[in-house]
Order: sequence, then C-alpha cells, then structure tokens
Amino acid sequence: IGQLKDEILLKKNHLLTSRDWSSTDFPWSKKVKEVLNLVFKLNEFRPLQHETINAAMSNEDVILIMPTGGGKSLCYQLPALLKCGVALVVSPLVSLMEDQLMALKALDVPAAMLTATSTKEEVKSIQDAMLNKNGKLKLLYVTPEKLAKSKSFMTKVQKMYGLGRLSLIAIDEVHCCSQWGHDFRPDYKFLGILKGMFPDVPILGLTATSTSRITVDVQKMLCIQGCLVLRASFNRPNLYYEVRTKASSQEECLQAVEDLLKTRYCSQSGIIYTTSIKDCEQLMHGLRNRKLRVGCYHANLEAPLRSKVHAKWLSGEYQAVVATIAFGLGIDKPDVRFVIHYSLSKSMENFYQESGRAGRDNKRAECILMYRLSDVFRISSMVFTQQTGLQNLYRIVEYCLDASRCRRAIIASHFDEAWDSQDCNAMCDHCCKPKERKEMVVTSFCQALYKLISNAAAVDTKLTAQKLLDAWYGKGAANLRDISIPVPKFSRETGPKAAAAMSDKHNIIMHISGKSVPLLSSEESHKTERKIPLTSNNKSLAPYQKIETLNETMTKSVSLKTTRVPKVEVLDQRIASDDDIQVCGAEKRRS
Ligand code: ADP
Ligand code: MG
Ligand code: ZN
Repeated sequence: IGQLKDEILLKKNHLLTSRDWSSTDFPWSKKVKEVLNLVFKLNEFRPLQHETINAAMSNEDVILIMPTGGGKSLCYQLPALLKCGVALVVSPLVSLMEDQLMALKALDVPAAMLTATSTKEEVKSIQDAMLNKNGKLKLLYVTPEKLAKSKSFMTKVQKMYGLGRLSLIAIDEVHCCSQWGHDFRPDYKFLGILKGMFPDVPILGLTATSTSRITVDVQKMLCIQGCLVLRASFNRPNLYYEVRTKASSQEECLQAVEDLLKTRYCSQSGIIYTTSIKDCEQLMHGLRNRKLRVGCYHANLEAPLRSKVHAKWLSGEYQAVVATIAFGLGIDKPDVRFVIHYSLSKSMENFYQESGRAGRDNKRAECILMYRLSDVFRISSMVFTQQTGLQNLYRIVEYCLDASRCRRAIIASHFDEAWDSQDCNAMCDHCCKPKERKEMVVTSFCQALYKLISNAAAVDTKLTAQKLLDAWYGKGAANLRDISIPVPKFSRETGPKAAAAMSDKHNIIMHISGKSVPLLSSEESHKTERKIPLTSNNKSLAPYQKIETLNETMTKSVSLKTTRVPKVEVLDQRIASDDDIQVCGAEKRRS
C-alpha cells in the first residue's frame, strides 16, 4: 500500500508540474494583472511569482523556493486579495510580521497580526473581523506559537473555515518545519494538523532554503506530499563575483576601497558591508577624509537618521552607504552597481543576500569580497555560540579560499542547484582569468601542527590560533615551540593559500563535550574571555584526543591554491596514538 501511495503521489506531482502555470488564460488572469499594477504598484512579475499565484488561485498546495529578496510575499498577498475571506499567514518572527504589515498598510491592504502580546481589545476586533461576512480583513499574520498554543484562536479559525472565509494558509520560512533545516522550530510541527482540518484550503510554503531533503521533509510534516514544488534559480547572471586579498593595515584597506570608488566605480552607486558598528563608523570616517561621499547605516542610529542616510543614497548624494547587515530590509534601489564586503559575511546565505542587492535592474553589477585570515577569527568568536554558526562561517571561508573553482559554481552548489561550467560566462574572477595551479603535499604541515597542539596539551597550556602560528614560526612562548619542526618557508601573511589554510584554524575544530568551538586568535580571546583550553584537568572532558581527517585529499597531493586542504577534526574520544597521525597523514608509512 505504501508503494502504491508513493506512486500516486509521484503521478500527482508529475501532473501538477507539467501544467502551464504561467498561462494568462485563467479566469482570474485579468484581475491578477490589475491588482499587481493598481494595488501593489508593480509593473511585472519576477520569476515564478505568476506561476505560484495561479497555483494558489487553483487551490493547489505549493512549496515555493526562492532566494531571499526574490519576492515571495507577493505570491500569497496577491491571491489573498483576490480570494474571498481571510488568508492566514504563519511567520516565525514578530519583526518580520511588523515589516510586512507596514508595507501592506502603505498599500492600503487591510491586514493584522496576532501575537502573544496582542491586547484583549486587538484580539477581539480581529476575531470579529474573521467571522464577519462583510469584514474587510484580507491577511492575518500569526506566529506558529499562537496556532499551537491558543485553543480559543484555533476554534475561531475553524469557525471562519466553516463560513468559507479561510482563503489560504501561507507558511513563511517553511523550512523551520524540518529538523534538517538550519533553524528548526518545534512549534512548526504543529502545523501538520492544518491540512487535515482545512482540506480544501491551499497551503503555500515559502522558503529560501532549498535542499531536496528539506523539501521532502517539509511536505511530509505538512501532509502535502506530492504537492507542486516551484524552485526559482539562485543564479544572478548579471552579477560579477570576485574575492580580493585584504591587506593587514587599516591604511592599505582604506586605500583599496578608495581606489575602487574613485576609479572602477566612479560615479556609480553601491553598498559597502562591514561586520561591526565600530568598523562601519571607522570606514565611513576614513573614506570621508579621503573626500568620498559616503554615509553609514547601522542599528545604533536613530530611525530618522537612518532614513536620511537611505534617502541621500537613493538620490545619489552619497555614492555608497557603509553599512552593517541592518541595511537590508526594504532596500530596493535598482541601480546598485557594486556591493563590497569589507570583511567576509557570516554565512553563504548572508553573503548571497547582501551581495544580491546589486544589479536588481539586471544590468551588470559587481560583488567584491575582501578576505583576510584575521577576519575569520574575529567572526568566529562572534558566531561560535550559535548552533550552526561555525559551520556556516566555514562555508564562506571555503568560498574565499578557493583559488580555482568558479565562484558561481560554489554558490550554486551551496544552494543545491545544478550547474554547468558554461553558465558563468566569465562573470567571476576565476573564470575571467584562470589562475595557474601548483600542487603540493601538505602532510608534513599537518603533522607539524598536530605536534604543536599536542605539545601545548602536554604542558597544559591554552592555545589560540595566533599562538599556534607563532609557535610554528618559531616565535612566541618558548614552551610552545618545537625545534624539531622546521619553520615554514612561506610568509605568514602572503604565503601560499594552502599553507595559510593549513595554519588557518578554520580547518581545526575542537569538539568539547559535543560542542564545536574554534581556536580563537589571542586578541579576540582576551576580549571575549572565551579562551579555550586545549587541555582540561577533567579527564572526561579532555578536548582533543583523536585526530581524524574528513577529507580524502589528505591522501593525495593537495592543490596548493585551493581549500581542499585536509579538515582536521579534533574529537574527544580517546588519546591520539601515532596511528591516528598516520590516518591524518594518510601516507601509509610510519613517520
Ligand atoms: P522574500 O520574501 O522572497 O525575501 P519579499 O517578498 O520581501 O522577498 O520581496 C522583496 C522585495 O522585492 C520587496 O521590497 C518587494 O516589494 C519587491 N518585489 C516583489 N515582487 C516584485 C516585483 N514583481 N517587481 C518589483 N519588485 C518586487
Ligand atoms: Mg520573506
Ligand atoms: Zn565563474
């Protein structure tokens, strides 16, 4: 029976997929166009918006996968206006709901939200609107908690359904249903009952998280197996991607940005992203001193000031905004010609989203990331307490360190998208100017680093990334150095990338009692008081006792300029023996 069911679902999905959802011959097609123009004040649809709207109007369940900023909201807002009654929108964050409500209010669309903090009066008036045949309310935003925990609210929704006034159910950030997603929310599990309760109401799941594993899981959780899945491409053909080496001195970094703004991007408009508010202000002052017209934008500025900066940028008075990630929502300038990342982002998702603000007009625009090793330490100390913080960071580090693969191919593979090497069209630094590759065996470096870490552990000394590098180069604390280890022949800053990557702690993760923690740079660890001991007096917590390679490249020679350096994982299972180093070195010979 199970097999039969699977076959039926597959058939159903096949039928749905083969229909022409972009047709303009649906009974509502004329109305759709009108509402798009007159209510939303937009000229045309972005990819897959029209398809999703037609499917929702046909009462089909849909999962829509679209990059952030692609325009998912319109896909449920527009059908909500065309259909009779109220659309229920499940959204994980109150702040997201507030943004949506503000935007809808500006368009005169009647919408409301219900949260744990809604007052009795608000709840009452919303509930009246839900059940009133002549009620104007079109969209009702709720948190999943509200649905899961408020029985009385659920009863009202059922009543509304009974009156035929529940038009559709949109679930934003629908990947939160899945344990495989990066931010699983237990309350999203409750949403699985909706299909059974309201069988003829279409469910529209929206997300930018696209692996097929998550999609299948989400369908199962929501009981909409076999539903239509629409997946928009993450590829932005008009964006040129480049990674540059960032200098170590502030002065040189400033110079580099100044050069870009005064020559390559002369009289063009752009955004410069920084990691912290302090960096943001510093960079702005530095650039202003160099006679550049820039403003800064971050969360510590009062809202009116932020609007002013935004307005000056829109009008062209500012060539660029130096910003933290606070500069994002509602940024819709079409002619952003460049986005510079002054430091790497926290994740590929962040990077994709931030750099994606360039070239919304589909004309050529550039996304430049300035990479240096010490920024990785800075950011790792900010993100390592988050559940997948480090994992996310290392993906973008890989993007930066890779010295030969097409940048767009890396982005595509991150978002689980098929990629053909022709697709880039020389729109990234590597495809534009292929680099020569040298090959090098890095086994001995791994062994040297492992030895230094072991030495530190043996003398019960705290080790940071910076100290490890010092020791390797024969500097720093004497008890951490090891005269039997040769000093590397390449320089610390500008040496070959693979060597940097090896010395780069991004490949060394310690698992202390099941938690991953990075080795921090000494500077950061002082600041954050998060020095991580490499040894512990408590034997059961001894942090690293086994070294494993997770990357097969260790066994072969490793391309010098790529990140395919061995990943060294330090696990807390047992004391490392020589054999483990052999595994790590994987040269199948005793050293
Ligand atoms: P997502 O939820 O996919 O991240 P949003 O729905 O928040 O994206 O939309 C991002 C921005 O794109 C919004 O400012 C929205 O007004 C704009 N937008 C959406 N659809 C269109 C369109 N067809 N044409 C122009 N702008 C659009
Ligand atoms: Mg959204
Ligand atoms: Zn390329």
